[in-house]
Amino acid sequence: MAAKRPTSNGLHPRLRAAEKRLIERYDHVTAIPNRLLFLSDFKRLRGRSGKGRLLALLTLCDARHYNEILRALGHAFSEEFVRAGLERLREMLPPEIAVYHVSVLSFAFVIEHEGTDVPELAREIADGFAHDLVVDDIPVRTKVGLGLMPLQAAAMDPAEVLRAVLVAAQDSRRSDAGIAFYNNRSDAAHRRAFTLLADLPKALKAKERQLSLAFQPRVDMATGACHGAEALLRWRHPTLGNVPPAEFIPLAEQTALIHPLTDWVLDHALAAAARLRDAGHRLKISVNASPLNLSEPGFDDKLFWALDKHGLETSALEIEFTEGTMAANQERATRQLERIRKAGIRVAIDDFGTGFSNLSYLRAIPADVLKIDQSFIRPLTVADSFMVQQILAMAHGLGLDVCAEGIETAEAFGLLRSLGCDEGQGYHIGRPMPEADLLHWLGGEYALAM
Ligand code: C2E
Ligand code: MG
Ligand code: MG
Repeated sequence: MAAKRPTSNGLHPRLRAAEKRLIERYDHVTAIPNRLLFLSDFKRLRGRSGKGRLLALLTLCDARHYNEILRALGHAFSEEFVRAGLERLREMLPPEIAVYHVSVLSFAFVIEHEGTDVPELAREIADGFAHDLVVDDIPVRTKVGLGLMPLQAAAMDPAEVLRAVLVAAQDSRRSDAGIAFYNNRSDAAHRRAFTLLADLPKALKAKERQLSLAFQPRVDMATGACHGAEALLRWRHPTLGNVPPAEFIPLAEQTALIHPLTDWVLDHALAAAARLRDAGHRLKISVNASPLNLSEPGFDDKLFWALDKHGLETSALEIEFTEGTMAANQERATRQLERIRKAGIRVAIDDFGTGFSNLSYLRAIPADVLKIDQSFIRPLTVADSFMVQQILAMAHGLGLDVCAEGIETAEAFGLLRSLGCDEGQGYHIGRPMPEADLLHWLGGEYALAM
């Protein structure tokens, strides 16, 4: 049989394949086994029963910190930092323990330990990183997270085990010791968040009918007349049931999905506004926009087109946004808010009194209305109305109208009215409801304790 020819780099094909395997399974920065080798070694690492063994995953710092190092000092230095981290870890581990470099900043290894208490060795490792790593004579702070997960006999999927121990390492940052065991509950929360994000694009498709809007009336405190309603998003997930907006909107805000989501709300809210107008109710509909929407180029034009599409005046729309998380591009956001206001769309600052509540910011933001957060209003009694009085005085001084959110009792309603609050919203007046119910509510005699 003819011998196989050497390949272009002069190696025999079998050697070439072995070389390729080797390159694939070792990390080029630290020259130690990588994630692929961990996965193929997993059975051996776990042992026959898994009993008495813990998988540990050490993360040197969080990604943001690493990026700062990368930006300030470059790639070569950052790689040196990772190597210095490994060196420190090696100093603390018995030499027979194999260490795997499983992701840029993480190392995995298996330690012998019976029971569910934190092993002494894990504590020593976490303590061992209390001092800065010195890289090229520069002290660099680490913020290690150490995740632990008991290995079991059951057929465990190694990739899944690695993912789970990474969750534990991330959770460990919230504990003082910087060490955490894998926790099913926190993992379930992560998975739920991921499922929601993955399912949101489908929910945005019209035929799905998963999303809907509820409308909550907003009234003039002096007369009790309703001239507005806030559109609040509802999501009925096919398997998880009703998911509150406070859960899925912050998730959407972490991705570009917040843009189509706000577009969906805007379109449906204005369609409802047009139908209500045709039924004889000229309401100003408030749409909640994320600060991210305000820094989106052309968001202002989007509002004008949407109003145009539904044949509505600019006075039919109000945009609410929360001041705490002001836009990434503050300059553009401010410019767009100015344009929106100039065109006649009202702008409201939502949830005032939570978050930053920065007063200089309040003066700089182009707005018409300040909505006092419900945490001030819900428990409101004469005795603790001092804060509300001050907010009212300040807002009126700045030329802003004030809307109180979360009015739940006749007492709070009466008090706010006597204090000169301009508008109100809350369960005492009306709960968020479907459009058809709002129409009914508007037509009926809603009895307010005036
Ligand atoms: P928000 O804009 O401050 O809306 C008011 C929230 O308070 C609503 O909760 C409403 O149901 C609730 N609420 C109203 N009156 C009362 C009351 O008297 N007592 C109590 N306990 N609660 C009351 P919801 O609908 O769960 O919305 C929560 C938050 O989710 C909203 O707070 C808003 O920040 C956000 N959100 C809702 N829909 C959208 C949307 O379409 N886009 C964006 N970006 N955010 C939205
Ligand atoms: Mg709101
Ligand atoms: Mg609010």
